[in-house]
Amino acid sequence: MRALPASADVVIAGAGIAGIATAYYLTAVHGVRDVVLIEPGAPMMLTSAKPVEGYRNWWGDGAMVQFMNHSLDLLEQLADATNNIPRMSRRGYLFASAQPESYAFFERVSAEFAALGVGAIRHHTGNRPHPAYTPPPADDRYATPLRGADLISDPALIRTQFGYLPDNTRVLLHARRCGWFSASSTGGYLLAQAQAHGAHLIAGSVSGVQVAGGRVGGVQVTTADGSHLIQTRTFVNAAGPFLNHVAGLLGLAALPMYTEPHYKIAFRDVKRIVPRDAPLVIWFDPIRLVWRDDERAALEADPAQHWLLGELPAEMHWRPAGPDIWQDDTVIVAWTYRTAPEPPSFPFAIEPRYPELVLRGLASILPAAEAYIGNPVGLEYDGGYYNRTQENRPLIGRLPIEGAYVLGALSGFGLMGCLGAGELLTAHITGGALPSYADAFAPQRYADPVYQQQLQNWQAAWQL
Ligand SMILES: Cc1cc2nc3c(=O)[nH]c(=O)nc-3n(C[C@H](O)[C@H](O)[C@H](O)COP(=O)(O)OP(=O)(O)OC[C@H]3O[C@@H](n4cnc5c(N)ncnc54)[C@H](O)[C@@H]3O)c2cc1C
Repeated sequence: MRALPASADVVIAGAGIAGIATAYYLTAVHGVRDVVLIEPGAPMMLTSAKPVEGYRNWWGDGAMVQFMNHSLDLLEQLADATNNIPRMSRRGYLFASAQPESYAFFERVSAEFAALGVGAIRHHTGNRPHPAYTPPPADDRYATPLRGADLISDPALIRTQFGYLPDNTRVLLHARRCGWFSASSTGGYLLAQAQAHGAHLIAGSVSGVQVAGGRVGGVQVTTADGSHLIQTRTFVNAAGPFLNHVAGLLGLAALPMYTEPHYKIAFRDVKRIVPRDAPLVIWFDPIRLVWRDDERAALEADPAQHWLLGELPAEMHWRPAGPDIWQDDTVIVAWTYRTAPEPPSFPFAIEPRYPELVLRGLASILPAAEAYIGNPVGLEYDGGYYNRTQENRPLIGRLPIEGAYVLGALSGFGLMGCLGAGELLTAHITGGALPSYADAFAPQRYADPVYQQQLQNWQAAWQL
């Protein structure tokens, strides 16, 4: 951290992945030298420290597909150029269902997604000849040509390739331009590069923005030493869950973003119920928790607990994890069974029984996990906020004050999309060419009555 400069070309509020990726593109790619990142905590330690670290081009929104395909191109180029500092590994996302009717649903959705640009669909059914299925690369390569998805209902193929899934698994959708990577390694590299190209990281909080004549003139920063003014004509709001607080400092109304808590657990899978070569598995069916008879009877006696006996939301997902995926035995499981928006509050509170409920849900899918209930080895759990818009598109672009910009509402995709997002905001700031998806992410979209009409019926599915 350095002393505060009196002026800067660009001041950025927040050194999460949004602020860091912007600083990287401004300095290391575009040669803007006086970029100041203001961060009250440690860089990459709020929302950006909490991910499952997944990435995917599997989206049902054309703008998001184009954006993510490009972001993943950039991430792969970074991996190529740095001997894979992002530690990308492309095993795919495996959506699994015990319901045979999921096949028709996956088939329809896959065809729609393929038309948007995720890649072709290959069918592997049991009753007609089908192309050979290509398993994920055993050496965790990230640069495989395979895109699109494999839609699988062939029981023999399910058993031979995915024998660790429950016996009642009937349908699989294996989306292929998906995997996981190291967010901390990527963010650390981008920050180091930005700093090597002149970015300053300052320990403090943006506490005010001077606006005169409708344009930004300076940014007030509160540090341990007091309050300081940095004169600047360009200010970026990248404050993650505090995006609206910082928008208020600009005198702007709240942005159309809300904060939604999401959580995950990690534990040591000492029984190896999740093989180390598994992809990220997403159980597509609703979850029913596993209870002993006496536990069930106690829950039945208490109406406030009845919800624990019923069907709970689908899309529990898990994957093998750890610094060395092959030597480690860590498994991450993420499941959000309640997604009511709430104002951001830190330290982030997690329902104490969350880990137990996740393990009970996991045991309903992988029965061997029952041994971990009440007894997990090396349990850790955490969470943070998905800062999201209704339609689950980000906010990237100009704010209605000259010189003010926003990069946020990155929901559950801010890390996988960090390079495309930082590049896009930098193009707005430097006046560069904008990609086809720029308008879809610009805050001005909400002023368009046609867009408002579309929002009435928007289905932001496959959030994860
Ligand atoms: C449980 C969970 C799982 C996730 N899994 C994935 C995943 O698998 N893949 C993926 O791509 N994404 C995932 N995400 C989403 C991803 O973590 C976020 O999209 C991303 O981290 C958001 O980055 P950000 O920089 O906008 O916000 P943050 O990381 O929160 O950074 C904002 C920063 O602004 C700072 N700040 C706040 N107020 C001020 C102020 N007044 N002045 C200066 N600085 C300020 C904060 O201290 C903070 O460091 C997940 C999120 C959660 C919660």
